Amino acid sequence: MYKPNFNRKFLVIPIPEADEFILSFLNRIKMANAYPSLNSVIKTIFEKKINIINIVKGNFDKSVFYKFTDLVEDDINKLCLTDQNNFYIVSCLLICPYCIKQQNYVSLNGYRKNVICPTHSIPYISRCPHCNKLLDWDAEKIEICKFCKTYVYSNISDYIIEYGEKISHSDIFVIYNDFLNLKGLSPSRSEQYSLNNLHKGLKRSIDFLIQPDPFVIKEFRELFITTDIRFPNYKTVRYEFFLLVFRIVGLINSISLVGVKIRESLSNIVGFELVDNITNNYDKELYKFLNYYNGSYGQREVDLNIKKILNTTDDVSDLVINKYFEKYDKDNNIKLEDFIHFCKSLSKNLSFEDVKDEFIFLHNFPPSKQLELLDKIFYGPTFLYNFNYKEVLMGVKIKKKDLNLVEKNY
Ligand SMILES: [Zn+2]
Ligand SMILES: [Zn+2]
Repeated sequence: MYKPNFNRKFLVIPIPEADEFILSFLNRIKMANAYPSLNSVIKTIFEKKINIINIVKGNFDKSVFYKFTDLVEDDINKLCLTDQNNFYIVSCLLICPYCIKQQNYVSLNGYRKNVICPTHSIPYISRCPHCNKLLDWDAEKIEICKFCKTYVYSNISDYIIEYGEKISHSDIFVIYNDFLNLKGLSPSRSEQYSLNNLHKGLKRSIDFLIQPDPFVIKEFRELFITTDIRFPNYKTVRYEFFLLVFRIVGLINSISLVGVKIRESLSNIVGFELVDNITNNYDKELYKFLNYYNGSYGQREVDLNIKKILNTTDDVSDLVINKYFEKYDKDNNIKLEDFIHFCKSLSKNLSFEDVKDEFIFLHNFPPSKQLELLDKIFYGPTFLYNFNYKEVLMGVKIKKKDLNLVEKNY
């Protein structure tokens, strides 16, 4: 692969591959001529120190580079990262661990934004999969971690990501970057870019794309709970609720085939009409909504599928629906504010006195008993505690003392 070249400094100049990254090319010059570091090669060519990121971007004198490499300007530009929109402009290594095993150079592909390796279905890595330290151009071999001396491609088959053909890389990354906020979940930057974390996050995005239902339901439930605690005003709940609908509809508009599935999932909870309205007139609706917000928090009729939100099809949710909501339709849809009112009427703030008491969880009773108790409790003197917990009904508990009271009354 090498051809002789009679310039002053380098005895051997490799021929660049069609998709090679400029730092990879310089790295191969370094190896072939036994230079100690990438920077020493750069310094030799330009006779001065140049910031490595300028090399990456192609901000350097091409005629000087030509003298050393015989590469004309066009060929040099092909090695550089000039397209800021589609590439990460970085100087670190970004490699597919399996590709680097098969080829002796670093391809530009790893620097493309929002892709995983199309051949091996694994995220591109900048860190060692084993010890999570940064990979280094100046390691003896870039595929062997300088720190733990392990090959980057050994024992990593668990990180291969599987997904159906309907799902595209850009769909996965829309969810990963903008929706699940998976980056924000990592404790530190280095952890954020670990192969383990990348794999986990992308896997969750794919799970969501394949089955959006549980996720969308979870979002709605948490919305009720958090806003109900922070703002005991159902109008605010409604406002946040609309924001979520807009967020999901915006998401549907930006992704391809699987958007239909997400749309279906959302429609199951808030009704087709609302989703259709917002989808078809997104900008107009959003403008209208934000203007409403200033005055009246977006007053708009919304029916919620309470059965979905309670996330259960068992008798308990039937009981809740049948007994306590008068205005529900055949699809078990209930007005948002009625539901909030229902939650409020069942819940009570905790006091220190309560903490000392013994409680029992409603969920600990057999289902038939739960129904019976819930019915009695609603009309009796007993309060349900912790109704605001994540698992709406799972978290409900009853004072044992009150329990006797209930039992006696009936
Ligand atoms: Zn690969
Ligand atoms: Zn390592």
